[in-house]
Amino acid sequence: MTAFKALGLDEQLLQAITDMGFETPSEVQEEAIPLLLDEDRDLVALAQTGTGKTAAFGFPMLQKIDIESRTTQGLILSPTRELCMQITNEMKSYGKYKKGLNVVAIYGGASIQDQARQIKKGAQVIVATPGRMKDMISRRMIDISKIEYCVLDEADEMLNMGFYEDITEILSHSPEEKSTWLFSATMPREVSSIAKKFMHNPLEVTVGSKNVGSENVEHEYFVVSGRDRYPALKRLADANPEIFSVVFCRTKRDTQKVAEQLIADGYNAGAIHGDLSQNQRDIVMKQFRNRQIQMLVATDVAARGIDVENITHVINYQLPDEIETYTHRSGRTGRAGKNGISMVIVTKSEVRKIKSIEKKIQKAFIKKEIPSGMEICEKQLMHLANNIKNTEINHDIDAYLPQINEALEDFSKEELIKKFFSVEFTRFYNYYNKAKDINQSEGPSREYSDDTGSTRYFLNVGEKDDFTWMSLKDFLREELNLGNDEVYKVDVKDSFSFFNTDEKHQEMVIKFFEDFKLHGRSVNVEVSTDKENRGSRGRGRSRDGGGYKGAGRSSRGAGGDRSRGGRSGGSSSGSGGGYKGNFKKRDSDGSGGGDKAKFSGKRRGKSRPESGGTGGRRRRSD
Ligand code: ADP
Ligand code: MG
Repeated sequence: MTAFKALGLDEQLLQAITDMGFETPSEVQEEAIPLLLDEDRDLVALAQTGTGKTAAFGFPMLQKIDIESRTTQGLILSPTRELCMQITNEMKSYGKYKKGLNVVAIYGGASIQDQARQIKKGAQVIVATPGRMKDMISRRMIDISKIEYCVLDEADEMLNMGFYEDITEILSHSPEEKSTWLFSATMPREVSSIAKKFMHNPLEVTVGSKNVGSENVEHEYFVVSGRDRYPALKRLADANPEIFSVVFCRTKRDTQKVAEQLIADGYNAGAIHGDLSQNQRDIVMKQFRNRQIQMLVATDVAARGIDVENITHVINYQLPDEIETYTHRSGRTGRAGKNGISMVIVTKSEVRKIKSIEKKIQKAFIKKEIPSGMEICEKQLMHLANNIKNTEINHDIDAYLPQINEALEDFSKEELIKKFFSVEFTRFYNYYNKAKDINQSEGPSREYSDDTGSTRYFLNVGEKDDFTWMSLKDFLREELNLGNDEVYKVDVKDSFSFFNTDEKHQEMVIKFFEDFKLHGRSVNVEVSTDKENRGSRGRGRSRDGGGYKGAGRSSRGAGGDRSRGGRSGGSSSGSGGGYKGNFKKRDSDGSGGGDKAKFSGKRRGKSRPESGGTGGRRRRSD
């Protein structure tokens, strides 16, 4: 507390800080706050996610603006709506003792008129996403000609999302002599260039080394074959019964798909990505915050900056394209001094990517094994035992005790325990007892391996036929019914392409194309002897990184795993869980808007044990 005082913060802020329970300033706060309070100047602050950047600019801004005046004096630009609302809430709680303070959030997907009305009441601080902000300025709903402080929060991400032009446009309506504070987790070239363009001689504060992830995060990776990605995800979840996680996928489509699969498999999962309406996203985020959703499957953009406390695991279902994105992902956990684990599911050919991430974040990954079926059973059993131990007795059952006691009177305590645990264990046991080991040896990845045993093909379709390497790869995999890793080195030229399969598939591939027609045109495939194209391996171009696509596309991999018999109807509602047994059923019984079920598995608060659960379990594994 005194430490905050020493930074020069005023009484009202200190009071609010006490209320929020902050005890000591974080490093970036310690460095930035005095600088910003001290004089009006530009600042570039680089600090990893979860280090308290919001307060680092929020406190000084609130102290410096004139609450008596209703003029808009501070503008905070942030990349996403979620982040925008989060910052707004933070600013409101920081400023709760500043009477008359009005902080307004401006973002797309909500009524522009309502927002304009709020602004009209006089907002000293506006927190906005660039798109909507630009829109409102052009409609003259917002006047930022008198702002004194402008914050570019998560600047790297705003630029990633293509907001450069919007930001330029917005700032052109602001006064030249304001102070601009840029906050970012990473400093790619684009950020330095924006700093050059919009800022005058900025001070630079860097906390930790650039691009280094949080100290409190442990990084682990698991090597499986592409088609085992989903089963691997399930096992990781099952081996961590208390998991509260964000699962990252690369595309909206995969995000949706993985979430749907998890929901169908009985997990408390939900999806968040850009194709959902704002309302849907809000619902999902609320459920996640309430812990009704345990596994939030997200795209990078949608999850950006989300600050939900106590996330235990970040799971990289697929690695991101950009290494920097990994820093952001893993920064969702290990926040505010807590420990977290960032897990990465990779295929053999992606292992080299782990090495480059290690270099960047300057931390070593630990190679872990996907737990075996029996290990998971053990974890779940112990979890159940602990749950029983810690459960408070619900006296509403007292009335039924005589009947229950009668039914069970012949059993000793030992027998009862065995029976009770068998109820739970048998289900897991049946699911996992024949489960195979899905770990893969790290081995030399295909890209570095010699081409022996591999065939390169020439195909007379290319960009002209609207193929990209990714879509051609998908197309080939689907048509040839091959796994994710079985079509590789896909190289698309203008009117032709190359790709490889293992030699053993050569005959099948040639045969398949014999009478294959694409848009009425026959497609010609030949075994390529083109030496140059054979040498295209390992240049690290993303076209060879096709392995990042999930196994989700082929119904063989993941689907096969979940098809086995589940726990029929036997859902249970745990003390903390609120697990709903059969979402499918509930979706079709008209209880709550079929389309919601697409992005969230849960839509009630604490659930009641409709189907007679025993408590403790929050999801099933099948
Ligand atoms: P960043 O923007 O750097 O990713 P945030 O500003 O979102 O980080 O802060 C991360 C979390 O840490 C928030 O929940 C915030 O309330 C909390 N926090 C910030 N400063 C402190 C502090 N000095 N002491 C304790 N918690 C803090
Ligand atoms: Mg932030």
